[in-house]
Amino acid sequence: MRQTYNDPNALVDGAAPRPRGARPSAGPTMVMQAYDHLLTALMTLQIAPGERIAIDQVARRLNISQTPIREALSQLEAEKMVCKVPNIGYRASPQMTRDEVRDLYTLRQLIEPYAAARAAEAITEEAIDVLRTIDRDMSSVVDGDSSAYPRFAEADDRLHRLIATLSGNRLIAETVERLHAHLNIFRVLYRTNAPTEAAAEHRIIIDALVARDSGAAERAVLEHLERSQQRMDSVLAENEEAAPA
Ligand SMILES: [Zn+2]
Repeated sequence: MRQTYNDPNALVDGAAPRPRGARPSAGPTMVMQAYDHLLTALMTLQIAPGERIAIDQVARRLNISQTPIREALSQLEAEKMVCKVPNIGYRASPQMTRDEVRDLYTLRQLIEPYAAARAAEAITEEAIDVLRTIDRDMSSVVDGDSSAYPRFAEADDRLHRLIATLSGNRLIAETVERLHAHLNIFRVLYRTNAPTEAAAEHRIIIDALVARDSGAAERAVLEHLERSQQRMDSVLAENEEAAPA
């Protein structure tokens, strides 16, 4: 039987009204603790796609009040990792469908290679320093360390957003930012060796940007997105086969 994050015997909170003024307001540290805990559980599929998140249980597990957990959940909702269902509470977002994945990558492949070419032309020393930091963060994520796993997705997010910003096209930067795709992509890829493969592809992108080679940057981003799409599609195809008819 699949182990779930929530104890099925305790799925009773959810619609409970938020206590007003009953507890001290949540400090940023507790919100961060709750956020990190929930993000790791979502990314490593301890909370499965679509599964309900029992706030009272998370509170007990972390030994903190429900307020910082609700704040963390609304942050995760903005990042499309969870969704709020009226009268039920929060659920982990459902897994992306193959059609949604195809549409997402079609859009990204149209705009991100172009953005990388413009970024390579416009790159500054300051941006090169940021790229090196991102590269270091990605290499430091140890395979199999579930608490480090979300950090890889966050570094991926930073890299793709930086390239979009450096393109100098504000609409491209806003579009890439609004996709909030990276956490959900790596959630799907948790049981694969995606971080190792993606880190190698990112290194080629970063090298091309640092060399100010716009053609190489454009090709490297396109190739990375095509491979990432293939990784996603093979996981989703496997899931479809595994699902009962
Ligand atoms: Zn990437």
